[in-house]
Amino acid sequence: MTTRLLIVGPQGSGKGTQGVRIAEAFGIPAISTGDVFRGAVADGSPLGQQVKAIIESGNLVPDELTSAVVRDRLSQADAAEGFLLDGFPRNIAQVASLDDFLEGRDESLDAVIELDVPRDESIARLSQRAAEQGRTDDTEEVIANRLAIYERETAPILDVYRTRGIVDRIDGVGGLDEITERIVAALEARGLLRPAAA
Ligand code: ADP
Repeated sequence: MTTRLLIVGPQGSGKGTQGVRIAEAFGIPAISTGDVFRGAVADGSPLGQQVKAIIESGNLVPDELTSAVVRDRLSQADAAEGFLLDGFPRNIAQVASLDDFLEGRDESLDAVIELDVPRDESIARLSQRAAEQGRTDDTEEVIANRLAIYERETAPILDVYRTRGIVDRIDGVGGLDEITERIVAALEARGLLRPAAA
């Protein structure tokens, strides 16, 4: 059985953490475009050199480049049976690009997990992460920019997926395990089975 998932939520919603947990539960790779870009910056690769300044300002990497990176990653063998994408698509143009790619392979998304966290809570979590991890894009000004871009460009993609009936809105406030269980329950209710349970 294949499982193709997206996880969408504002910065600080915990989508990275939950994405990894859900991918593990369903035996699929978690693919985070933010992680890919940060890794490239850390390596000093040509991609990293291209995106470093953009990421540090909290702006979006150009769609063409991001979409190419994702297509490349989804073409690798470990994504043949499914994947969980975190951080992509992030705007309507990227939705179209993902649609094209999947249609070309006769594939489609099974579910979109919307992690719902109030703005205050997500800002509080980000400030804490800034103190703990010192991510260069976690300064107050850059956080505000990223959240504004989320509301303007990313939140609308959920409406597109909602018309397809594939969005599960999950309350993202609570204990880590509790939230993972909520997501798993929603996916199972769609008939998506974890390998152990299949
Ligand atoms: P966050 O969601 O907390 O902002 P991410 O790790 O998802 O963090 O992304 C970090 C940065 O990587 C973004 O601010 C952006 O510059 C870049 N990025 C990640 N995904 C995309 C995407 N799909 N399109 C464009 N830029 C992206």
